[in-house]
Amino acid sequence: MELGRRQFFKLCTVGAAGATAATLGFAPAIANATQPRQYKLLRARETRNNCTYCSVGCGILMYSLGDGAKNAKSSIFHIEGDPDHPVSRGSLCPKGAGLLDYIHSDQRLKYPEYRAPGSDKWQRISWEEAIERIARLIKDDRDANFIEKNEKGVTVNRWLSTAMLASSAASNETGILDFYFARALGIVGLDCQARLCHGPTVSALAPSFGRGAMTNNWVDIKNANVVLVMGGNPAEAHPVGFKWAIEAKVRNGAKLIVVDPRFNRSAAVADLYSPIRAGSDVAFLMGVVNYLLSNDKIQHEYVRHYTNASLIVREDFGFDEGLFSGYDEAARKYDKSSWTYELDGDGFAKRDLSLTHPRCVFQLLKQHVSRYTPERVTQICGTPKDDFLEICRILGETSAPDRTATFLYALGWTQHTSGAQMIRGAAMIQLLLGNIGMSGGGINALRGHSNIQGYTDLGLLSTRLPGYMNLPTDQQTDLATYLAQSTPKALLPEQINYYKNTPKFFVSLMKDLWGDKATRENGWGFDWLPKWDRPYDMLAVQDLMTEGRINGYIVQGFNPLAAMPDKNKGVEALSRLKWMVVIDPLATETSTFWQNHGEPNDVDPAKIRTEVFRLPSSCFAEENGAIVNSGRWLQWHYAGAEPPGEAWHDGKIIGHLFMKVRELYQREGGVCPEPILNLNWNFRRPLDPEPEEVAKRANGYALADLYDDGGKLVARKGELLGDFSLLRDDGSTSSYCWVFAGSWTEAGNQMARRDNADTGLGCTPGWAFAWPQNRRILYNRASADPQGQPWDPARRILEWNGSRWVGCDVADFGASVPPGSATAPFIMLPEGLGRLFSTGALNEGPFPEHYEPIESPLAANPLHPKVSQNPTVRLYERDRARMGSRDEFPYVATTYSITELFRHWTKHSRLNAIIQPEQFVEIGEKLAAEKGIRAGDIVKVTTKRGYIKAKAVVTKRIKALQVDGQEIQQVGIPCHWGFEGTTRKGFLANTLTPGVGDANSQTPEYKAFLVNVEKV
Ligand code: SF4
Repeated sequence: MELGRRQFFKLCTVGAAGATAATLGFAPAIANATQPRQYKLLRARETRNNCTYCSVGCGILMYSLGDGAKNAKSSIFHIEGDPDHPVSRGSLCPKGAGLLDYIHSDQRLKYPEYRAPGSDKWQRISWEEAIERIARLIKDDRDANFIEKNEKGVTVNRWLSTAMLASSAASNETGILDFYFARALGIVGLDCQARLCHGPTVSALAPSFGRGAMTNNWVDIKNANVVLVMGGNPAEAHPVGFKWAIEAKVRNGAKLIVVDPRFNRSAAVADLYSPIRAGSDVAFLMGVVNYLLSNDKIQHEYVRHYTNASLIVREDFGFDEGLFSGYDEAARKYDKSSWTYELDGDGFAKRDLSLTHPRCVFQLLKQHVSRYTPERVTQICGTPKDDFLEICRILGETSAPDRTATFLYALGWTQHTSGAQMIRGAAMIQLLLGNIGMSGGGINALRGHSNIQGYTDLGLLSTRLPGYMNLPTDQQTDLATYLAQSTPKALLPEQINYYKNTPKFFVSLMKDLWGDKATRENGWGFDWLPKWDRPYDMLAVQDLMTEGRINGYIVQGFNPLAAMPDKNKGVEALSRLKWMVVIDPLATETSTFWQNHGEPNDVDPAKIRTEVFRLPSSCFAEENGAIVNSGRWLQWHYAGAEPPGEAWHDGKIIGHLFMKVRELYQREGGVCPEPILNLNWNFRRPLDPEPEEVAKRANGYALADLYDDGGKLVARKGELLGDFSLLRDDGSTSSYCWVFAGSWTEAGNQMARRDNADTGLGCTPGWAFAWPQNRRILYNRASADPQGQPWDPARRILEWNGSRWVGCDVADFGASVPPGSATAPFIMLPEGLGRLFSTGALNEGPFPEHYEPIESPLAANPLHPKVSQNPTVRLYERDRARMGSRDEFPYVATTYSITELFRHWTKHSRLNAIIQPEQFVEIGEKLAAEKGIRAGDIVKVTTKRGYIKAKAVVTKRIKALQVDGQEIQQVGIPCHWGFEGTTRKGFLANTLTPGVGDANSQTPEYKAFLVNVEKV
């Protein structure tokens, strides 16, 4: 019997479940799988959870057996889509369909293990021994290397010789415990997966609109008239979320446009697909801006009243030959003081609502983009001119107030040296078209991992704090200085400028961190936070490791050897560590970097002295907690079973480690014990904190009776806060993450709500909790004109009822600020206006400019040959020497994900391994013919940093492009295989990628680099 791909999954998820892998593998016969099993669901326990892979956050129902009796272990035997879930409505993609095999993977870790220096094998150890020995390593290294004061005598309390990585799919509650643990120890080198994927999203969207998050939500995509997919491939990377783009096509007659180097599965269902050279997106997007301005395709009233087009820029601002004013060549960075507005005597920006002043943002933008003609776009991008003009025309139609376009992007934009500026380009287009704040509009940053949004919100990045505050630098020597520099002043009169409340957010965080020990007298414990002096992002830490300046590495739910660029450098870096602790449910390549796996990891264990501890943890199906989907929904999930073997919950591991370290400091003393001893780790079960208790702390409490301005009691001492408007800067409130306030209130756990009633336009405010304040469409005040009339009556989100804004969503505005006021809709920005000119927020300029990738197939940037590449990119010497030239490596390569596999996780799931068992690369027919490569041949793909070998898929999907007078061939590198897992052994794709990142966030360049290809 022949089974199609869809039939295969249908059988696996609906009928055969527990037996899927065994019966649908390669033996005995696939026909066995066609015999559906009888399910005993009546005897099963049903538990609600969410898919652990991508950020669509599909709802799942897990069925487990085990009668709940003492010592009886439940086991999950069936998983299916949750039909009530408003986004997924019962659907699961091939990844979600394989979840059961992930839970029961034979790669799951079952007991703690230890690898001695120079050894080639693991030895089993007890939890007690593991915790004792790791705590001792932590204390000894911290005591030996902790820096209490810097060379200027400033208290900095940082510990740099050990770094930590947090997860991207564990719950918020695990992430919060990680933060407490790392920051109390003084670790600055704390990072999470967000560094490697959506860092540039925050860098670009926060200065554009005020928040660095997806503006709308998955279901709202259905309301669009045009869906532009660029810098992403949601049909494969977010398959269930993508059905809302199809819904827009089917129900709304929307045009779906895909621009991508490859004709991918999103392109296969598009109305218009056009190719582009990897790494040239800024030129394309600035070309669109030029088209919209030159052809008068902008939403005039929106641009005039809701963007900073009318604000006057300082006279000394300029741009010439690829450089903005203020460039310091030696330092490779800008003095940004000229990149701002001209202010009046009251400190407000000067404005010209006629948009004719020669230095207003509108006129400067026109001038800046005038170089990006359709011909120039074609020259740089290789996109056919007719395609480009047709895309501009379709997008331009949405400048009408009653039409919207939505932009969907993901890593195809973020993972570039100019990633943040690509996203900025998209944000500017949407502002010009009047599509932000509108239903069916927005910039929808499609987050990757299931809780990468949450880990970003929680501040698990080296120089961040929760709720998008920054960790103080060692220039911010006291609380007053830090708050003064972190709290913006309004740049126009009557603006909400909500970040003016930063002191309330910060003091409430400090009260959460240090409890009663945080007092006004000690600056709320300000000194106990580590202060940073230079970047400690993952790329920086990896470089420090290769210099032998990092001794310890704690890696939780993360596989940096597979995720960091330049895998061979990664092995060198890990080999220089003294010790590493890996906490993971699965056997990752990071944990076995010291093992010889032949060509994919050809190392000599005897020469690697790193001690490695491998601690088995729970997976998503075995924990309670919340994860945050791409649409900012905090969704609570429940454990359906206990972790396997001796595995512990992540919180229990961190709890034991922290309490053991604290015990050592109590017993022995040591360097700077105060933050460890004073940390508010007063949990009911300190060795194993309960997620519910942690989640309530994230929401926050009233620490005293709270009264409003009119003297009315609004919260009693000890009550959970109802929302963040109750936060105070006088120590009378606590909240770990101010944007999560409202998620667990006196009314209960708002994240666990399951009312999927549609209040209009697909909005379901009764399902889970969306930050901030349960808003589902950000900046939604901009959906109506200044007088409060919706731009499009069919997309009415809000209306003014005479005293308040009401509607299908929560107003993202002062609820009682009436229409007609001067208050503008972008309430998080000090001018209240969406930014076409990003002032000094980004490192490489206030307007996006096209720069070539660091490894470019062109001799020079056609726009300005003397400044070919991003002038503010950080390139360590060790990495500079590992960059290849176009003579040696003539083809452009780009990495990507495929439908059936999720990053490096699903290779451990047998069902997914069956359908994509072996590594491949995609090569266009023309290049294959030139190289004598046929489909199925093994090819070697090489960069200056290393090589991979894989099967060749020869395809029509990648075409040669004409770029700047030369033919450019592109090669596609899926990134899912490695030397661990259930799939056939393969190479880590990041063996090829360069050690350089986005100039703002240091998110690595995975999408445009140079390779050579040979037949083996
Ligand atoms: S991988 Fe994403 S789209 Fe697929 S089932 Fe999981 S959450 Fe849904």
